[in-house]
Amino acid sequence: MTVAANSSTLTELLHSVFGFAQFRANQEEVCRAAVEGRDLLLVMPTGAGKSLCYQLPAIARGGTALVISPLIALMEDQAAKLSALGLRVARIHSGLDRGQARQACVEYLRGDLQFLFIAPERLRVPGFPEMLAKKNLALIAIDEAHCISQWGHDFRPDYRMLGQHLPRLRGSDAQGETIAPVLALTATATPAVQEDIVTQLGMVRPAKFIHGFRRENLGIEVVEIPIPHRAQTICSLLANAKRRPAIIYATSRKQSEQLAEELSSKMRAAAYHAGLDAETRERVQRAFLAGELEVVVATIAFGMGIDKPDIRTVIHAGLPGTLEGYYQEIGRAGRDGASSRTYLMHSYADQRTHDFFLSRDYPPVEQLSAIYGILKDEPQPVEELRAPSALGEEEFAKALEKLEIHGGARVDFGGNATRGGTGWKKTYAVQAQHRAAQFEKVLRFTAASECRMTALVRHFGDEGDSDRPCGRCDVCDPAGALLKQFRRATHAEREIVQRMIEELRPVEYKASGTLQRNLDLVGRISRDEYEALLDAMVRAGLIAQEEAEYEKDGEVRRFRKVRLTALGLEVRPTTPLALLIADGVVEEFSVRTVSPARAKKAKPASGARDARPVPVKLNAEQEVVAARLKEWRGAEAKRLGVPAYVVLHDRTLTAVALSRPANARQLLEINGMGPAKVEKFGRVILGLCHAGD
Ligand code: ADP
Ligand code: MG
Repeated sequence: MTVAANSSTLTELLHSVFGFAQFRANQEEVCRAAVEGRDLLLVMPTGAGKSLCYQLPAIARGGTALVISPLIALMEDQAAKLSALGLRVARIHSGLDRGQARQACVEYLRGDLQFLFIAPERLRVPGFPEMLAKKNLALIAIDEAHCISQWGHDFRPDYRMLGQHLPRLRGSDAQGETIAPVLALTATATPAVQEDIVTQLGMVRPAKFIHGFRRENLGIEVVEIPIPHRAQTICSLLANAKRRPAIIYATSRKQSEQLAEELSSKMRAAAYHAGLDAETRERVQRAFLAGELEVVVATIAFGMGIDKPDIRTVIHAGLPGTLEGYYQEIGRAGRDGASSRTYLMHSYADQRTHDFFLSRDYPPVEQLSAIYGILKDEPQPVEELRAPSALGEEEFAKALEKLEIHGGARVDFGGNATRGGTGWKKTYAVQAQHRAAQFEKVLRFTAASECRMTALVRHFGDEGDSDRPCGRCDVCDPAGALLKQFRRATHAEREIVQRMIEELRPVEYKASGTLQRNLDLVGRISRDEYEALLDAMVRAGLIAQEEAEYEKDGEVRRFRKVRLTALGLEVRPTTPLALLIADGVVEEFSVRTVSPARAKKAKPASGARDARPVPVKLNAEQEVVAARLKEWRGAEAKRLGVPAYVVLHDRTLTAVALSRPANARQLLEINGMGPAKVEKFGRVILGLCHAGD
């Protein structure tokens, strides 16, 4: 069945049914393709108006559209909106009683419905897919389609079944032509996830619309802040009423409660997390929508499907697990088009939190094996498996879920489990690795020195994007960044930069490590000082950096190529260099160049930002401790694959050597030694302080 789609009928429907004056970007093209019966993959950000792209074609084609949606709340919301427009809608999900579900089926079979919303797990109910297949559908829309991909950040096992049911649901005409097109919609799918969706759903030469990821009115900041300082920073940031309403994403229930409490002495704030009952969550969400609450501190998908236009600030009080999730969350700011900012706070300690989540969400393979081992070919009630598996309640549930996702177990609608295939071991390992790789991408995003918006847009594979710098983020506009503070480079720093330029001038590029070694400074600058200078040069447009790798002894090694840009090539020793050094991230410098004597004499420039610490003199004993600490720090940094300053700052290291703390409490008093650091490294550091005692 194909239906001609001329523009005037589409526009007429837009006016008469939906009451909208005009199509938004891409909507008309998408609708036309859908009306013609093409399979479609639609990746457009939340709020772009994807629903209309299946709703209008459904009406144009006539008959019933089947809409599959993962969340009851989303389903209810869409169904209510369509009913309000006078359309005939029914839905079937676990929140409704049997009578209502039966009524929906009757209406469907009578051909009375324009839209039928179902939750994917419904397809498990024996006879249900067959019942659906009795009628020809107008189209099949799969909302939040990324849930089908195990590479997606929101994977739902029930979506997996769609692929096997779709051929029957699509139906075919007398010529054997497929009748109902499949429309997959999502706001978040990387190119790998897009592929996966198309394959899993068996889509036929789908038209792809992947658009609109660049958000012109968002200024993204990424800043390294130790965990104990975050609450204070957030409070002062949001003290300014212009920065509210705001959503804060916390990494734990505890953090969400604490932050909400701290904020509520100054503004109307509340927590929202998975530990709260549904009623409380509903109340918080409604109060926020109505403007009665100005700030919500959330741990879970707060705001999924909600449409609050005037959110001015989104703060991540810890590292998110995936860039897809992060983009979704910051995307809730500034829907009204007015200027809005987002802040991502992170530090080394966040990685540990994440490791914890990873091991919780991906239990050891042995736990899955324990369950797999007791499964049989005959169905057994799930509750009877837990005791013989010897797993705790939560462990059991998580391990069984994973086993099911990967085909090692089948759980039917009645809660009976049977043994599945053996392939799960391999795919489970692959998925766990994939998760870790996604987090790597988040880390790389925070460490990168390119425009934040461009990096995100590229991540989603928006090919039509211009790739141009946004001009608003902390990389494009460091001086405008609120949390990252910058100071002017000192004379000594500018001298080093000048030398780096001279080193790079005659060559195409240098590896960053080689460049640092070639500088041959008497005092040597530390790795973090060097990195800060490179960052400053990137920001000033003097150099470009590029990740590269080579193979040695069968191992892939990464390095960075540094090359001069056209602007960098123009810089002569007489050019005044205006460089900004980030001192939120990298603290005070102790740059000693060719002439340490001269550097010492140099008076600190005016302004507190330029103040340098007086060089500290260590006695012989303290020198020994410092040397030991440095050696350990180098090894640790190498082991963790991070720059040394991430492990311990030069300044902190010196302070530790100077005071040689006797216990964790004293160690904690040292500037730069937060609780996370003390917890992680405290024992080793204290040991090193007193190794010779
Ligand atoms: P998405 O699913 O892409 O996140 P929705 O389909 O929920 O977005 O649409 C977001 C909002 O935009 C809804 O309130 C919808 O009514 C509105 N909308 C969609 N298309 C148009 C249009 N052409 N003109 C005006 N408003 C629109
Ligand atoms: Mg939607």
